[in-house]
Amino acid sequence: MRVLFVSSEMVPFAKTGGLGDVIGALPYALQKLGVEVAVILPMYKQIKDNYGDQCEFLSWEMVQMGWRHWYSGLFRMNYKGLPIYFIDNERLFGYDKIYVEYRFDIERFAFFQRAVLSAIGDPMGFYPDMLHLNDWQTGLMPLLLEAHYKAFGYLQNVYTLYSIHNLKYQGLTGKEEIADLGDLPGHYLSESGVMHGGAANFMKTGIVYANRVTTVSPTYAKEVMSDVYGEGLNGILGARSWKLVGILNGINTELYNPATDPYIYRPFNRVNWKKGKQFNKLGLQRDLALKEDPSIPLIIMVSRLVPQKGIDLFLEVAHQILDMPVQVVLLGTGNPDIEGALRDLENTRHDNTRSMIMYDEIWAHKIYAAADLLLIPSRFEPCGLTQMIAMRYGCLPLVRETGGLKDTVHAYNEYDETGNGFSFSAFNSQDMLNVIRYALNVYFNHRPEWDNLCKRAMKEDFSWETSAQKYLNLYEAIVEENTRP
Ligand code: ADP
Repeated sequence: MRVLFVSSEMVPFAKTGGLGDVIGALPYALQKLGVEVAVILPMYKQIKDNYGDQCEFLSWEMVQMGWRHWYSGLFRMNYKGLPIYFIDNERLFGYDKIYVEYRFDIERFAFFQRAVLSAIGDPMGFYPDMLHLNDWQTGLMPLLLEAHYKAFGYLQNVYTLYSIHNLKYQGLTGKEEIADLGDLPGHYLSESGVMHGGAANFMKTGIVYANRVTTVSPTYAKEVMSDVYGEGLNGILGARSWKLVGILNGINTELYNPATDPYIYRPFNRVNWKKGKQFNKLGLQRDLALKEDPSIPLIIMVSRLVPQKGIDLFLEVAHQILDMPVQVVLLGTGNPDIEGALRDLENTRHDNTRSMIMYDEIWAHKIYAAADLLLIPSRFEPCGLTQMIAMRYGCLPLVRETGGLKDTVHAYNEYDETGNGFSFSAFNSQDMLNVIRYALNVYFNHRPEWDNLCKRAMKEDFSWETSAQKYLNLYEAIVEENTRP
């Protein structure tokens, strides 16, 4: 089995969220199962700056896209035993940011998809059986494969698995634009083809034309077929439930390992974790000029600041939370309004709040290691990685029961002493506040039970092994059903 991952993000080359983490880990887990894996990404400026001198130039060609004839350079490097390919075009990818502007991104990733298909085989020296596609940035590929290759007898034995990491971002454009960007024959430009509700839709195209579709948790796979979570594609997905499956993400357990983490104040393991966390909390309190006292519960959020993440729920009751004997540290970037509200909060509640408006991996590690409680009041959450990362560091997640949060966080049950965190169901700030109060009561008044919760959380297995096997089974099922005589 040879699999080519096509993605807009991969740790450590380019990351804005969970997609980057997944592509930085799953290919390696598949490799351990004997799969021949490669990854292909756009060559963003940051990749050229940081890894350019390690890349080998393979070839170049001019890729045609409507009226355009654009240069596409193909580079390759080896990263920790995995071949990583890059598509180079400075005009499109030579920016500081991974995503630049909505309409421009449509053009950028349309080009990327066409350039990747053009590079498969001889130019790359890699002949995949499976294209593992990810999110809207790659949604056109199953259709492009059919329309421009299979229809002419090329790439006949190449199949597609399309993974939805976030259904919210679909890649929408106009009919004329898609006809041009994809050089698509007219019969594809209908509601049964690329169009959805009058707009060309990359995500919908991926769902319709891929051999199989996955989402990143079993609960999200069910939720997306409902109108609450379906983002307008619930009908499309529901009609294809036979090809939709939820496979839970894992995390990179080497990168997020408190016993070896070089970024935290002092490493700790499951034996010395209590002392270790105290030391880390004191370190963070010192660095952020918060009162230095390890007995104060530290509540954190590490998040993109977008409506999805439910920061508004936190803001509604932030003063009531901060009136309790706690410290709150928020790390995130995103929506300017939310950033402003968090800055204001730090200014008015400087005693026990810090709002760190930035994207910073190292701070993230330090904060997870120091904290007691991670708030994730998401409106929806395809999988969510932060709750799993936090648990590894003995920080208990307090989450809304949705998507992958529901699959990974099991609410503390004081009667049978089970659970690995706390949860609430309705998207309601008072419900969240009540659970925060409940959690703090356990923290202050039932310390042995709190410690047992932390121990159970730290013991959870969030490695990629099990999920990688499920992907491999799926690849094999796709090939089998398409080659059966
Ligand atoms: P999403 O993909 O929706 O952003 P996930 O929970 O799946 O959410 O993944 C978020 C990832 O990004 C985690 O690895 C988290 O630690 C990281 N992250 C989010 N915001 C920041 C930030 N401001 N600084 C550093 N890391 C961040």
